[in-house]
Amino acid sequence: MTDYDLAIIGGGFAGLACAQAAAARGARTVIFERKPFIGAKPHTTGILVKEVADRFDFPEKFVRKIHRVRLYSPALRHIDLHSPGYYFLATDTAGLLNWLAAQAADNGADIRCGSTFSHSEKTAVGWRLPGLDVSARYLVGADGSRSRLASDLSVSANRKFLLGVEQEWRGIRNLDAGFLHVFLDSDLARGYIGWAVPGVHGAQIGLATSARHAPRLGEFVNRLRTIFDFSAATVSGKRGGLIPAGGTLHHPPLSAALLLGDAAGTVSPLTAGGIHPAMELGRLAGVSIANHLLDGGPDPWQQIRRQLPSYAVKNLLRRAFETFAPPNPLLNFALAQPLFQRFAQTVFFHHRGLLTLEAWKDLLRPPVC
Ligand SMILES: Cc1cc2nc3c(=O)[nH]c(=O)nc-3n(C[C@H](O)[C@H](O)[C@H](O)COP(=O)(O)OP(=O)(O)OC[C@H]3O[C@@H](n4cnc5c(N)ncnc54)[C@H](O)[C@@H]3O)c2cc1C
Repeated sequence: MTDYDLAIIGGGFAGLACAQAAAARGARTVIFERKPFIGAKPHTTGILVKEVADRFDFPEKFVRKIHRVRLYSPALRHIDLHSPGYYFLATDTAGLLNWLAAQAADNGADIRCGSTFSHSEKTAVGWRLPGLDVSARYLVGADGSRSRLASDLSVSANRKFLLGVEQEWRGIRNLDAGFLHVFLDSDLARGYIGWAVPGVHGAQIGLATSARHAPRLGEFVNRLRTIFDFSAATVSGKRGGLIPAGGTLHHPPLSAALLLGDAAGTVSPLTAGGIHPAMELGRLAGVSIANHLLDGGPDPWQQIRRQLPSYAVKNLLRRAFETFAPPNPLLNFALAQPLFQRFAQTVFFHHRGLLTLEAWKDLLRPPVC
């Protein structure tokens, strides 16, 4: 049985950011990923907000900046939104995950793919992972929306989900690459939105719905055929999965263990963006755990707890959006209204929170259309 300071379950954004930071500070770190290699079959669209790009120096070849959002009504009329200096990043998600893994490995982390965690045993000095033949002083669960570690430790698990599905396309002709194309439609994307993202290697077209309603991706793509030219286009891949939509999970502190990313429910219930919190908190956890284990620093959970997003307003808006799913004629009407346009601007461009002074100032400003 090999002995480590830190064992991480899950080689996604949260686990890799945590491993990279902990290993860089000298913690003997191992990461277990059940897929055969890092980045295999990504389930996410992989759009990043500018705040992540500011904190992590992603290589240019894995990302593409998109400065503007084109928001469509169900009748396919649109408004254009942007905020000077702001952008989103479309990503080669698999490439980016591999780059993160290479950084973690360069710092000394062991990355074991094809290794599925099943259960843990608490010991006097930490944990034993019998199936993986490893012991560790600290354990991190970064194993996604249906965390096996959360159920092994009997802590709260995600219960509310959106279901997202997406196709990767090559050769769509007139999809304007300067925009993130976002579609409101309560029939096809009930409880969330549809999207067409001009990505790094092609376009990604998808939609997500409240998990009770099956996403009708075929119908959605057929609607887009009326505005984009698919005559020479082909499908090159598929993605999809569950997106936690109930907000950050709360549970009592664990002894020498914590959960990160989707396993901790840190996904915005409104925008379904989870990569930014997964990476930010992953990195913070890696630093805090290494400081704690190697230098007697404070309890890592206390450091993380203070930074956990509350999503209070976003949770309320999500519930309202699901309960009173606005009928399509109302959405058609709303998109033409200046107040709704400013609200949309606020949702897309205020990632630090809808309750900030800046967000409210923007609501009162004329829209950028
Ligand atoms: C369709 C879709 C589109 C999305 N689009 C976006 C977007 O554009 N932008 C955004 O910010 N967020 C998006 N999200 C959400 C985002 O993908 C997640 O919040 C983010 O990936 C969370 O990262 P994570 O590391 O916590 O979990 P994950 O990325 O799920 O990684 C968990 C890893 O753990 C591994 N694992 C699971 N169980 C075990 C086990 N027992 N043993 C070993 N390994 C295990 C999995 O194989 C996986 O690699 C989307 C989600 C979906 C489903």
